[in-house]
Amino acid sequence: MKKNVAIVGAGFSGAVVANQLAHAGYNVEVFESRSHIAGNCHSERDAETNVMLHVYGPHIFHTDNERAWEFINRFGEMMPYVNRVKAITNGRVFTLPINLLTINQFFNKTFRPAEAEAFMAEIGDKTIENPQTFEEQALRFVGRELYEAFFKTYTIKQWGLQPSELPASILKRLPVRFNYDDNYFNHKYQGMPKDGYTVIVEKMLDVPGIQVHLNTRFDPNAKGDYDHVFYSGPIDAWFGHTEGRLPYRTLDFEVFRDTGDYQGNAVINVCDNSQRYTRVTEHKHFAPWEKHEKTICYLEYSRQCEEKDTPYYPIRQAREKAQLEKYVNLAKQETNVTFMGRLGTYRYLDMDVTINEALITADKFLETAQAKGAMPAFVIDPLA
Ligand code: UDP
Repeated sequence: MKKNVAIVGAGFSGAVVANQLAHAGYNVEVFESRSHIAGNCHSERDAETNVMLHVYGPHIFHTDNERAWEFINRFGEMMPYVNRVKAITNGRVFTLPINLLTINQFFNKTFRPAEAEAFMAEIGDKTIENPQTFEEQALRFVGRELYEAFFKTYTIKQWGLQPSELPASILKRLPVRFNYDDNYFNHKYQGMPKDGYTVIVEKMLDVPGIQVHLNTRFDPNAKGDYDHVFYSGPIDAWFGHTEGRLPYRTLDFEVFRDTGDYQGNAVINVCDNSQRYTRVTEHKHFAPWEKHEKTICYLEYSRQCEEKDTPYYPIRQAREKAQLEKYVNLAKQETNVTFMGRLGTYRYLDMDVTINEALITADKFLETAQAKGAMPAFVIDPLA
């Protein structure tokens, strides 16, 4: 008899595992509490402008992972796209990530690469040997002036915390370059799905044996009806929040439409306190191969995620790590459930990492089933 698997969540984690297991002959039921698939990557055309909207804010696919890149390309055409971010601070516009043009314009210099590198080494705080916090990382590698202009205020707006309270890993997402390359990402592959992310996820789920239930919350008590459950919802929700709610940041978007070109770029960050929002995204610029008379923009505001809100960014300070550890210990006592993805493991994950981890999770499940062993609660350690 075919084995039945439940997958909770129809974002990339759930869709990838569903796809792999359906191809391996499993019956797969996917439960999605929202009215659409693709999680926070969901994209749809705006009725008024016909622009492809990144409904939950900008998602640019970038990766060094061959498997994730090859996999996503099976489900839709990825168009060449390079994310080039502009940043406003103290009444001036610069390019991010910090590169030779940013350094030269900011300090009114005409440095060549080696000169800029020596200058940055000079202004960096060398007394910080092993940066642990966001602030230490910034002060060590870009110095106080650039830190205050580009990172300090933006980070306070984004996280509602002082950069001294946040881990260095958040800043390590952004490179510093001593040439004029203003590509926001360092990865080998970068692209934007021609028809949006949702049709990609739709295609992943379009395999015989997969049934998708939208607007349906999965009750953990129903887990006994399945041979295994893959859970990509919030880990604390599975346990009824018995150890308290794990905190997240959520985003609010103030949406406006106009004609023509509003800002001349897809993403412009506002790094100072001139606005409460962190960035402005003009969605038609995410699809430069399309032509649109009209335009639609999002002003992005970050705040603490309340019970009814959509969780975006997990906040992982020491306190939350201790709370997460309690949930991880509870999860390890469960049988026939595997926790995965951004919400299931409470980690700040990019799309490519999510896809790759889901592929690894599916591999592990199929191997374990063959060996007739027990599937672990975590294939990827949330505390690592
Ligand atoms: N950041 C900043 N200023 C910027 C852009 C980013 O201080 O102009 C910091 C901020 O703390 C942010 C982190 O760097 O949360 C990571 O930025 P990224 O652009 O990768 O964030 P995402 O697009 O995932 O929100």
